[in-house]
Amino acid sequence: MSCAPIKDNRNSLLMQASLKSKIALVGLNRDDLDTLLSELNEPSFRGQQLFGWLYRSRVNSFEDMGNIPTGLRKSFEEKYRIHPLKLIYVTGSTGESTRKFLFELQTGEKVESVLMKEGKRITVCISSQVGCAVDCDFCATASMGFQKNLSVGEIVDQFLQVSKESTAPITNVVFMGMGEPFLNYDRVISAADLMNDENGIKLGAKRITISTVGITPKINRYADEKHRYKLAISLNGSSQESRLQTMPITKKYPLNDLLTAIDHFSYQSRHPVTLEYVLMAGVTDSKEDAKKLMTLLSGRRCKLNVIPYNEIGGKYKRPENHVIDSFIAALDDAPFPVTVRWSKGTDIAAGCGQLAVQKS
Ligand code: SAH
Repeated sequence: MSCAPIKDNRNSLLMQASLKSKIALVGLNRDDLDTLLSELNEPSFRGQQLFGWLYRSRVNSFEDMGNIPTGLRKSFEEKYRIHPLKLIYVTGSTGESTRKFLFELQTGEKVESVLMKEGKRITVCISSQVGCAVDCDFCATASMGFQKNLSVGEIVDQFLQVSKESTAPITNVVFMGMGEPFLNYDRVISAADLMNDENGIKLGAKRITISTVGITPKINRYADEKHRYKLAISLNGSSQESRLQTMPITKKYPLNDLLTAIDHFSYQSRHPVTLEYVLMAGVTDSKEDAKKLMTLLSGRRCKLNVIPYNEIGGKYKRPENHVIDSFIAALDDAPFPVTVRWSKGTDIAAGCGQLAVQKS
């Protein structure tokens, strides 16, 4: 799949390029680059070269594209830019285990990404939208409302620019930043495909995780299309009623339908889905909830990832550690794996659900 602006305007790349703001090349796949070069009457091997410079060598300027003739580099420079995003602020210094990156889009909006180091695992958490239309009561991004879908380039560029700031190669990508990836489905899949491309970034499919709030028609589509990226689903409730309490989307996509979609995914992919469960004091953290979860999920191919709540100054609180421990203990006999995500970066508001930027 190709990026939207190119797909929609295959025949007018040069016309678009003459517009005031230059088109960014990051986000274009091999086919897009071939089209672009054929419009410039260049042979198709140049597409391969350009792809390598953008995604393998990750250069920041056309000058650095050694094997591209000077004349062609000049015309690139006149019409295009490499990066769609401008890095404007980094919170946390090199060497710290969690750092937050603030980017500005060409249209002025801002998005955040987070880089996390844990032993050999280096993960970048990327955003798929500016703001979010899904109104989860406990999530900071919801307070921004929905502003726009990110383009393929704006998604992939978060990876490229963060990777340049990382002291070691990035091993994993999670779509757990701002936004709901399955409400920007085509672009998120194209971005994952680009990051997975073996001639470019070459990140293994199982090292890319897409986290959805549970848009069931899209989960079914994802299952039917047999994508190989890992799927995580935010469960966050042990019953229809408890989920509805914090996630209004449960009204549109009821828990029962979600469970059916989860089963469909397991059947199609033969891989377990990860169910994320945020522990909020007095809301989702009782032993009763743990028991209900056990019943709900037994017999299903899944993993449960328990996430102690990261506070955002609102009405929800993180449970005391002993409550977290007894919740986990109540799941001791669960027939599915249970893990706890001790979110990193809460001191710099970079933990799960803490990403939000003010409109400037
Ligand atoms: N929209 C997607 C991805 C973004 S949220 C989704 O809903 O899955 C990534 C994860 O962080 C989700 O599981 C979400 O439930 C969780 N989350 C949101 N706010 C949180 C908070 N304040 N503390 C802990 N986890 C949170």
